[in-house]
Amino acid sequence: MSEKTIPYKIYLNESEMPESWYNLRADMKEKPAPLLNPGTGQPLTAEELSAVFCEELVKQELDDTTKFIKIPEEIRNFYKMYRPSPLVRAYCLEDKLGTPAKIYYKFEGNNTSGSHKLNSAIAQAYYAKKQGLKGVTTETGAGQWGTALSMACSYLELDCKVYMVKVSYEQKPFRREVMRTYGASVVPSPSDTTEVGRKILAEHPGTNGSLGCAISEAVEAAAKDPGYRYVLGSVLNQVLLHQSVIGLETKTALDKYGIKPDIIIGCAGGGSNLGGLIAPFMGEKLRGEADYRIVAVEPASCPSFTRGTFAYDFCDTGMICPLAKMYTLGSSFMPSPNHAGGLRFHGMSSTLSQLYHDGYMEAVSVEQTEVFEAAEQFARIEGILPAPESSHAIKVAIDEALKCKETGEEKTIVFGLTGTGYFDLYAYEKYNDGEMSDEIPTDEQIAASVAKLPKV
Ligand SMILES: *Cc1c(COP(=O)(O)O)cnc(C)c1O
Repeated sequence: MSEKTIPYKIYLNESEMPESWYNLRADMKEKPAPLLNPGTGQPLTAEELSAVFCEELVKQELDDTTKFIKIPEEIRNFYKMYRPSPLVRAYCLEDKLGTPAKIYYKFEGNNTSGSHKLNSAIAQAYYAKKQGLKGVTTETGAGQWGTALSMACSYLELDCKVYMVKVSYEQKPFRREVMRTYGASVVPSPSDTTEVGRKILAEHPGTNGSLGCAISEAVEAAAKDPGYRYVLGSVLNQVLLHQSVIGLETKTALDKYGIKPDIIIGCAGGGSNLGGLIAPFMGEKLRGEADYRIVAVEPASCPSFTRGTFAYDFCDTGMICPLAKMYTLGSSFMPSPNHAGGLRFHGMSSTLSQLYHDGYMEAVSVEQTEVFEAAEQFARIEGILPAPESSHAIKVAIDEALKCKETGEEKTIVFGLTGTGYFDLYAYEKYNDGEMSDEIPTDEQIAASVAKLPKV
């Protein structure tokens, strides 16, 4: 079918890695709404944010105008251990599907943490170190972020304290041990080591925990110790900024061969990999230079974009974090314990929320059984065992390729393969045993948590 003039894997040289991160917000006419102080309802100042976040990261968080922010040499050198990551032409998948579509995926699973999260972890740890801090605190859901941060902290000799959602702590003991191997301390959340943890435990005894609740604990722990700051693996503007390295490399690789994508697809939890992958393409779209279909894929069990409300909400269950304007299911929303742990956050990046609201991108939700069918198919054909989160994007990429088969269109599809699934074999076991189910929240459940949105 295809002459295969494009290599199976497009590798870049180290010298072709971006020198700067690209700040998509600089090209947005409608900027994402600012974070608000939950006490006063006023936009948070740099000073207020600096109590919780590192100073340099606060600057990046608030910067809506600087297009390119230089990647410090030390971070670029760390990137070189596992980057540039390959852009793979999925010839084998195309042939098996019998589609005229051309499918590419950007593979971010080539590091021990097994996901794209290391791209931001090293940046955040670097700025904490530069500020002379002793350590950082964070939460982790499925464990990828905690693992990435542990790796970055051990490299820079920073202390790392991870609050891990209890259900993952129990279901993913191996991920926990990787973090401990890198020197992090790992606490199951909710825990009795923080005030907010004790409060949540008293109100919901026996709870599985949630990402929002672990965030509350990590923020409290950082706020109480002046040598520590809190870091977050997704959602925030600064994280999307760091992840732009994914999209910039993808664009360079495609440009080398004169390839223009038609559709760009990514899974969306808090929106960091998708925001990073689409950044330079969305930039062209915003500047009117090119047009692309951009599709966010989320789990039907936690459908922030497709069934959420665009409003200010807390980023955490404990309601101590700033308010962000985003598509949200409400901070009290507790998703059913599905197997795509990294996609279980109740809200969505403010930047992506604004772009979605303004019609620059689409969103779809998919159920986990069909996601695992796609994951199995992909593993068997392309060889890589994908993370459940990434498999949401695979599912929709395959659907789009099959549509091309019907219409005969030779569309070019690019999707983000954010990570590998070696630590998700419990989920694969459920799928292989035919015990996986799809739990979709009812309208009443969503309405109940949305009714509790803060009034601003
Ligand atoms: C965390 C994670 C995601 C989702 O997070 P985003 O911030 O939405 O990108 C997706 N895939 C993998 C493998 C992850 O670890």
